[in-house]
Amino acid sequence: KLASREFSDTDTQVKIGEREVGGNAVVLIAGPCSVESRGQILEIAHAVREAGAHALRGGAYKPRTSPYSFQGLGAEGLELLAEARAATGLPIVTEVLATEQVQQVSQAADVLQIGARNMQNFALLHAIGETRKPALLKRGMSATVEELLMAAEYILSHGNRQVILCERGIRTFETATRNTTDINAVPVLKSLTHLPVLLDPSHSTGLWQFVTPVARAGIAAGADGLIIEVHPHPEEALSDGSQSLKPERFAELVRQVRAVAEAV
Ligand code: PEP
Ligand code: MN
Repeated sequence: KLASREFSDTDTQVKIGEREVGGNAVVLIAGPCSVESRGQILEIAHAVREAGAHALRGGAYKPRTSPYSFQGLGAEGLELLAEARAATGLPIVTEVLATEQVQQVSQAADVLQIGARNMQNFALLHAIGETRKPALLKRGMSATVEELLMAAEYILSHGNRQVILCERGIRTFETATRNTTDINAVPVLKSLTHLPVLLDPSHSTGLWQFVTPVARAGIAAGADGLIIEVHPHPEEALSDGSQSLKPERFAELVRQVRAVAEAV
């Protein structure tokens, strides 16, 4: 298998802008769940860059559980992300929901995010495999590690070797948190694959209070980086406000995570 350690025993490094994910340094991707307005995305882009983020996340197309929830700004959101990149220099990580959108989203994105709900959308994986854009593949909420690796194989086997994996929590019987962080998946994936592995403690916990401690755990467990939801006013967020950090709390997360990275 192309993702396996048997295929390659050297760690793959994937470039996000100037930064390599999968090397020695921890890579931090931060930003809102959704792009909501020009003011919101520009404010948060500057704030996360100040705090030490290496890339800006933000959804323009949102895979919402309910069709009545905010679905994202679409094409306008992509333009705002491009503007935020121009203003801050931060590379852009944004989700592509459908095969037909791959070309359009590729114009604004430095990294194409494949959401948990699309982990086994094989047509989408194939289409992204035909591009040469870095892909951030999130684990499905009910997918095994093996299924995640086979999903990565769909991208790799079509020629796109720039794949980053992301643990974002799985469904268990536990209801105290939105999902359960499968912290095991971090060292398990690192043992099975040469691909970089990120942790998303925002979606894996669903509650901002637990994001920083679980982020520390992820780095201690060997994750190559983190993807974190940050919003200037979480209580007003159009999606995932309960798990979003305020900028000053994200700055504190960065300090703590750097301390852990130095200690391990
Ligand atoms: C997101 O990153 O905002 C998102 C929708 O994540 P996931 O696909 O992991 O639920
Ligand atoms: Mn979200």
